[in-house]
Amino acid sequence: MKPFVYVTKPIPEEVEELLAEHCTYEVWTSRERIPRQVLLEKIKEADGLLTSGTKIDRELLYSAPKLKIVSNFSVGYDNFDLEAMKEKSVIGTHTPYVLDDTVADLAFGLILSSARRIAELDRYVRDGKWTKSEDEESLFGSDVHHQTLGIIGMGRIGEQVAKRAALGFDMNVLYYSRSRKPEAEKKTGAVYAEFNELLERSDFIVMITPLTKETFHLIGERELKQMKHSAIFINISRGKTVDEKALIKALTEGWIKGAGLDVFEKEPIEKDNPLLSLPNVTIVPHIGSSTSVTHTNMLKCAAKNLIDGLQGKQPRDVVKELKQEA
Ligand code: NAP
Repeated sequence: MKPFVYVTKPIPEEVEELLAEHCTYEVWTSRERIPRQVLLEKIKEADGLLTSGTKIDRELLYSAPKLKIVSNFSVGYDNFDLEAMKEKSVIGTHTPYVLDDTVADLAFGLILSSARRIAELDRYVRDGKWTKSEDEESLFGSDVHHQTLGIIGMGRIGEQVAKRAALGFDMNVLYYSRSRKPEAEKKTGAVYAEFNELLERSDFIVMITPLTKETFHLIGERELKQMKHSAIFINISRGKTVDEKALIKALTEGWIKGAGLDVFEKEPIEKDNPLLSLPNVTIVPHIGSSTSVTHTNMLKCAAKNLIDGLQGKQPRDVVKELKQEA
């Protein structure tokens, strides 16, 4: 009998075809997030789960007596309770590499939009406020080229951001990570800096670490106060790596100049979130990897990991904390 797989989001036909060769499967086809109770019911019969962002906790794992593998179609896996997965010997996989360029592109979209005030001035034009033809100082922004970019988290995506900054915009690139990255330094010319030094020297700061116990609120009041008043802060990691209340204070009181944000402490963002009324913030709805090609590639990669796991092979992309047990 073919294994049964549950899929928590709609997927393209070519990925369904890939699954159909090896499994029976059912897809949650609504664009609304799957209700927890529905998932807890479906998971009872599942050998595999194809998902992204769904909380994989003890309750879910203990409701799933047959579950062998959870395959995330995202590179982040902060939705996994790694200890509980170890306990239950459930394999956890993610989709590294396939999205690096796409996410790095968005980082630059946010850098440019925030520096040159593209989103803000788009609203200005649409609101009929562009009434004079001469250059107005009030519309001026900041240069990106030849400025200093600080990258916090020099991993796969960080390196692609560094490449764009150094080769495309002649920026000086600093980075901070848990460990030094000699290969990335060689390829991009990025220079390692201690955390505090990076905060103090950078004109632009891109946050791109995973969300872990150590990175939770890594950027808070103290760190925001260390940044230049002219600094622009970009978060494309996870919302909870930044203390959002502190960020709102920093943007309101002028500790920093602006921000470009793809991720938020609560997603979707709440309607009364003060960030929404700040002109110096560019906001997008967690679209780091959201292009059609990359989305499909992530799903194909996740489906391949899932099928390998169900067939007793070692999937290519087991998350590092679960590698020994997989
Ligand atoms: P990665 O290759 O694992 O790189 C992560 C980097 O963060 C590594 O250099 C790591 O350093 C560093 N890091 C981890 N913990 C740290 C800490 N406590 N202090 C300082 N640096 C730390 O991961 P990636 O593929 O680049 O992805 C990074 C994250 O981006 C994902 O986990 C995900 O949450 C987020 N993401 C968001 C989107 C989006 O749509 N906005 C899309 C894709 C990914 P070491 O190598 O020294 O451990």
